[in-house]
Amino acid sequence: MPEKNHNESELEVKLSEFEILCKTKGLKITPQRIAVYRALIASSCHPTAEEVYQQVRRDLSNISLDTVNRTLHTLTEIGAAFVVEGTGQPRRYDGGGEGHQHFRCIKCGRIVDFHYEPFDNITVPELLDRQFAVLRKTVYFEGLCDVCMGTKQLIN
Ligand SMILES: [Zn+2]
Ligand SMILES: [Zn+2]
Repeated sequence: MPEKNHNESELEVKLSEFEILCKTKGLKITPQRIAVYRALIASSCHPTAEEVYQQVRRDLSNISLDTVNRTLHTLTEIGAAFVVEGTGQPRRYDGGGEGHQHFRCIKCGRIVDFHYEPFDNITVPELLDRQFAVLRKTVYFEGLCDVCMGTKQLIN
């Protein structure tokens, strides 16, 4: 997995915020949870559970894919991670929290983060708000990425 250009202190800040979140939600802070969350925020490619597992087992050699799957599920329940919308199976995870949007390439599956401020404040239509509890709002784009369009030009 390519690593994000986070410096260590940025990771440490996110990890301590994560520990606070766990405490708030009455969740035990285990080495497994820390490792899974760390792998998630260190990656920029919205990994699958399998990819997180490959990363985490370098440090925790006896962790199972099942544990990673369950941990990812727990993280999404407390809002520390979420499943990237529109990606189908296998699910792709993001530890970046709120504050960014996604573009997904339908050809190569690349998911790119972007942040466009007006999208942070989209309003929930009243008819939806009245009937349901909206927990997360997001804007999602899909299409062809620059790499894929470049490849296409080369072929034709
Ligand atoms: Zn692409
Ligand atoms: Zn993202």
